[in-house]
Amino acid sequence: MNSSPVLIDGFGRKVDYIRLSITDRCDFRCVYCMSEDMQFLPREEVLSLEECSRLVKAFVSLGVKKVRITGGEPLVRKNALWLFNEIGHLPGLNELVVTTNGSQLEHQAHDLRRAGVRRVNISLDSLDERRFRQITRVGELDKVLRGIAAAKQAGFDNIKLNTLLMRGINDDEAIAMVAFAIGQGIDISFIEEMPLGQVSHARDSTYVSNEETLKLLRSRYDLIASVESTGGPARYWYVPNTNTRVGFISPNSHNFCESCNRVRISSKGELYLCLGQENKVDLAPLLRQFPHDDEPLKQAIVSSMQAKPKGHDFNLKRAEPAVIRFMSHTGG
Ligand code: SAM
Ligand code: SF4
Repeated sequence: MNSSPVLIDGFGRKVDYIRLSITDRCDFRCVYCMSEDMQFLPREEVLSLEECSRLVKAFVSLGVKKVRITGGEPLVRKNALWLFNEIGHLPGLNELVVTTNGSQLEHQAHDLRRAGVRRVNISLDSLDERRFRQITRVGELDKVLRGIAAAKQAGFDNIKLNTLLMRGINDDEAIAMVAFAIGQGIDISFIEEMPLGQVSHARDSTYVSNEETLKLLRSRYDLIASVESTGGPARYWYVPNTNTRVGFISPNSHNFCESCNRVRISSKGELYLCLGQENKVDLAPLLRQFPHDDEPLKQAIVSSMQAKPKGHDFNLKRAEPAVIRFMSHTGG
């Protein structure tokens, strides 16, 4: 096992965290994430779960300590649990986490916990059934609430809600969402909308900055800034006398690229060095040309680090998205 980091990029940043998308498909169609007529990858282009497992093992052998399984909706992938069981107790992997819309958790939460998943992030943008449907286009709030209840019962180390506020749609729910998180005894993070993919609205018409959200929340709660760093882009605040922390992930208003420690792998095996740039290395051919030899794969991963850009370049006022691909393709 490696004790010293192997993955260092051209700016001296250590990469020890990967986000792996195991499908670009989803049972929801969130308006900020997908277009109405999404085209999904042909199934034969999507990595097999065995290939996903090989990738994770290769990255962990190169010093990666944290793996997030995401999508699309990772839990709609058939047999996804096989992968979680395969990598859940991998020596050297300190944290296996999943980001989900919660729709399948009612039935999968316990199995995920048993497989070794420590933390789960559940996206939830509204507590109003009608609005929830409007935002997700097809989702059922009740199912997600049952999923949250199942996750709490399953005993994860941490459960965090991810909430994206959109002006004129759910921006009046910030306080209600925090109250809900407090009632559930779980964390919540607010994520600013990013210009990824061409969606049906102009991004700057719906954008709500986290600064605005924080100001609103402070009118209701005595938030206390946390000094601890999670190593990620979120900044956290405590709500006194509760078990809830409120996080803010602010890619537009606070660029956090200088401390970026992560890379993303799409469900077709593209290694994206930055969420907001096009730089990528295609790992699928190496997985397929060398089915029994991981060395070429590992060498490609190590040298890809030189292609990691300094940072993203989001500008919500541009008519064109910063990158053409959707968040559901790269893996959120
Ligand atoms: N389906 C799962 C879910 O919704 O949690 C995992 C994948 S989803 C792409 C991961 C996260 O990305 C979600 O919390 C979602 O709100 C966020 N997201 C999607 N599109 C986004 C965008 N354009 N800007 C900011 N966050 C976005
Ligand atoms: Fe699906 Fe997650 Fe994108 Fe919503 S944010 S459409 S749940 S992948």
